[in-house]
Amino acid sequence: MVGELSKIVLMETEGNWKNEFGRPWMIAGPCSAETYEQLFQTTKAVYDLGITVVRAGVWKPRTRPNTFEGVGEPALEWIEAIKAEIPVQFAIEVANVQHLELALKHHIDMVWLGARTTVNPFTVQEIADALKGTDIPVMVKNPVNPDLALWLGCIERIANAGVRQIAAIHRGFSSFRNTRYRNEPLWQLPIELKGRLPHIPLICDPSHIAGDRSMIREIAQKALDLNYDGIMVETHPDPDNALSDPMQQVSLRQLADIIGDLKLRKDTCDDALFKSKLEELRNRIDSIDHDIVENLANRLRIIEEIGQYKKENDVTILQMERWTSILNSRREWSKALGLSTDLIEEIYKTIHSESIRKQTEIFNRSPESPS
Ligand code: PEP
Ligand code: MN
Repeated sequence: MVGELSKIVLMETEGNWKNEFGRPWMIAGPCSAETYEQLFQTTKAVYDLGITVVRAGVWKPRTRPNTFEGVGEPALEWIEAIKAEIPVQFAIEVANVQHLELALKHHIDMVWLGARTTVNPFTVQEIADALKGTDIPVMVKNPVNPDLALWLGCIERIANAGVRQIAAIHRGFSSFRNTRYRNEPLWQLPIELKGRLPHIPLICDPSHIAGDRSMIREIAQKALDLNYDGIMVETHPDPDNALSDPMQQVSLRQLADIIGDLKLRKDTCDDALFKSKLEELRNRIDSIDHDIVENLANRLRIIEEIGQYKKENDVTILQMERWTSILNSRREWSKALGLSTDLIEEIYKTIHSESIRKQTEIFNRSPESPS
């Protein structure tokens, strides 16, 4: 298992990262490089697990001043010294052109743009310009806010600079809501990114999604089950005393356990029985979906009649009492059927906003315009 997960060779195929086993690709290392000894010990342990790409933060974006902001250039010297002894590649975060220049000067193997950089197109463009003519692989973390266009835009700027090896890192999204995650995963966003850019490897960073080491295994497994191409995990010899992100870093021992536990499922199965059963189930889904779409169209036709009727009688589009009763009854129905009430609520909010849009269109129609 460990061998399969970690004995990864970075190969360039049609300008994209692929690894020897197709997937996934493991990256592990400390949130921050703190001392030579800490970095050496971590690299050695990570390498002994068969992982050959080590992450380390050299400059740290911190929320408040007067906290540990990374050791800077001396860490790059430690990295060079460690690489002379252990055959690994190093990945670091660069947040400005100066960081990138120092990374190149010290032969860093790959860089990533952090979540606070991806949000800023000016900085991204400056870094992209400085990347021209280099062939260093670049990983792009999602922006802190759930904005797919911004994430795609950042990747596009890097690609336009001629960088051929690009990967995306999903590290979750800031949320004002109280959730069990430090950064909400909002899995549909990276899935949408993968749909738009199928050739860009997608790596999951369970550490920054979780914010708590007890959840790393579960999130990493979910990413693998969603066919991610790789995982980037923060690990530290003494996590509780780490200078940054102490709660979410796993110990070197825990890292070994997690890697040993992760299950790598296959993309597909060639067994004929499996295939025919899957096809039968998919046919049933297709026919149910067809009914759903047909019923939505039927519903919309009735909405049009209602809109017209309200307009003729000068009645407002939104009837709060009716809307509340729709929501409540649909929630009740879904509960009785064992469906998630939150899911049904989300679906009905979407249906309702379309209904309002349609009725507004009818209200705004001038009497002489064709219906
Ligand atoms: C990090 O990787 O340590 C980091 C600061 O991440 P992010 O940009 O995702 O917050
Ligand atoms: Mn971190």
